[in-house]
Amino acid sequence: MAKATKAGRRSPTALSLFSGAGRSARFLSNRGFSTAEVDWEHNSCNDLSTLQGCADAELLELDSDVLMIEIDCATWSTARRAPATSSLPHRLRRAGKFTLGLPNLPQRDRQKLQAANRCVRSTVRMVKSSIRRGKSGFLENPHSSLIWGFLEKSLDAEIAAGKITFCTCTMCAYGTPWRKGTKVMLWGPQAANVALRKCCSKKFCQFSKKMHEPLSSNTVVIVKDKVFATKKAQTYPNKFVRHLLGQLVLKDPTTTFKPG
Ligand SMILES: [Zn+2]
Repeated sequence: MAKATKAGRRSPTALSLFSGAGRSARFLSNRGFSTAEVDWEHNSCNDLSTLQGCADAELLELDSDVLMIEIDCATWSTARRAPATSSLPHRLRRAGKFTLGLPNLPQRDRQKLQAANRCVRSTVRMVKSSIRRGKSGFLENPHSSLIWGFLEKSLDAEIAAGKITFCTCTMCAYGTPWRKGTKVMLWGPQAANVALRKCCSKKFCQFSKKMHEPLSSNTVVIVKDKVFATKKAQTYPNKFVRHLLGQLVLKDPTTTFKPG
């Protein structure tokens, strides 16, 4: 992943897992980083929930200065709530005793859970490794995701030692018509100084001065290109990427948030 610069120095490296539209990797690539993106949307061989996928990602992590994890929140979502007889997504987990999966689920759901649990355990190993090596990184998920309970338990020593910090924000503060409360876990030398933007109003956006667009699985929201809004909202705005990575990685004053 690393490439040598003309002066013979190794350029900094960044690994983007579940990279989706690849905005985080592109931001750092445009600033001189050598980047690697892994997402099964690019190629089905890049499935980070398989044993091989986890092993490959963990090897790549060892060579990365910045680790960016935009893990799929699907099985961790509290929005899943269809009854067992429905073909719509069922609730798979519950906070506390059943964070890793509810008992007596159909086989298809159990397989989904197994893959997602393997994936998050691998993620925890990579976060620990990145911290141990003194590197930076972030992991994001919706604020309501049940993944936070698992991560806080698995990384309790690092959190207690002050090596991990958390930040919350809303995407409407970065230009989306929906609010989408998002939580970001951060580590690295500049992690404690990162501050993100948050809209404190539920209905009326304090940034756009308009009503927030709904983004709930209770509401069927189909946008112009017929993508479910919940899916579409998985791509984060460039403004958010710039604001987050500018503070965490670049310490660049020009990345300071400017409204509009
Ligand atoms: Zn807002």
